[in-house]
Amino acid sequence: GTQPGGASYPVGAEPIMASFQRRMDIEFHLRKAIDQREFQLVYQPVVDIYTNRMVGIESLIRWNNTVLGHVPPCDFIPIAEECGLIHHIGEWVIREACKQNMKWQEAGLPKMFVAVNLSRRQFNDTGLCSRIEKILAETGLQPRYLELEITESMSMDVNLAADALTQLKNLGIRIAMDDFGTGYSSLSYLKDFPIDKLKIDQSFIKGLKQKQVNAAIVNTVIAMAKNLNLLVVAEGVETEEELQVLRECGCRFVQGYYYSAPVKPAHIEDMLLQDVRS
Ligand code: C2E
Ligand code: CA
Ligand code: CA
Ligand code: CA
Repeated sequence: GTQPGGASYPVGAEPIMASFQRRMDIEFHLRKAIDQREFQLVYQPVVDIYTNRMVGIESLIRWNNTVLGHVPPCDFIPIAEECGLIHHIGEWVIREACKQNMKWQEAGLPKMFVAVNLSRRQFNDTGLCSRIEKILAETGLQPRYLELEITESMSMDVNLAADALTQLKNLGIRIAMDDFGTGYSSLSYLKDFPIDKLKIDQSFIKGLKQKQVNAAIVNTVIAMAKNLNLLVVAEGVETEEELQVLRECGCRFVQGYYYSAPVKPAHIEDMLLQDVRS
């Protein structure tokens, strides 16, 4: 068939060539995205269900490119990791999130943590900790209002990551383990890394009321977290039923569409102001 660019591929190879082209396009435009201010952060509330208040937010990156349109993070983060751009993008995300959180604090809004997703590749950078320290100094945000989320990954150098995480934790930053339960080595991560918080993956929360296996897993994770003195957040909570089961399991913190999708900063401000008034 003939491609928009004029190239012609043998039948059957087209999907592969198309995805290869897509990857090249993303990489090409990604290289200019920071300078052209194409990234934005949206924020999703983490809610304390005992008090019904927002205790923190997770920052999630959004990319809108003039040629490619909106590209979801699952499409460009892996590419940014492969071509090394993740260091630059990751630093932009941390700075932006800290700046924004400081802005809210300076406006007199209730203080809360901002969580930032770290890519495993960012641990290959031995300067990670001092860079984060510099961003905190620059923005004036106290370390206890920053949280870093890490995911499990077999290809992470355990010693390197453990050193970096210990340094970060010593600064007063909290470390959360994202997508807990989906990796190959969840439990050894708890042993090897200075983790403060578990985020139970949304796949365990889906249909919590109907799926007994999920309920058993969630119950067990919460009990384990209590024994290990870890905080727990349930992710991807969408329904009243899921929330109810979580409440029964003694889960205090939740995140998900039930309360709010990720939203722009102005919207977070509105929610915080409502909190203050109510
Ligand atoms: P994640 O860190 O596990 O983030 C949660 C994802 O679930 C987000 O997708 C969020 O929009 C979505 N979500 C939140 N609540 C619900 C819900 O109730 N139901 C459902 N079905 N989904 C919900 P998003 O924003 O597309 O991000 C996808 C992934 O991309 C993130 O997964 C994270 O791994 C990665 N990511 C996003 N932003 C960044 C970033 O700044 N840096 C890095 N390294 N990775 C990022
Ligand atoms: Ca996350
Ligand atoms: Ca997650
Ligand atoms: Ca995830």
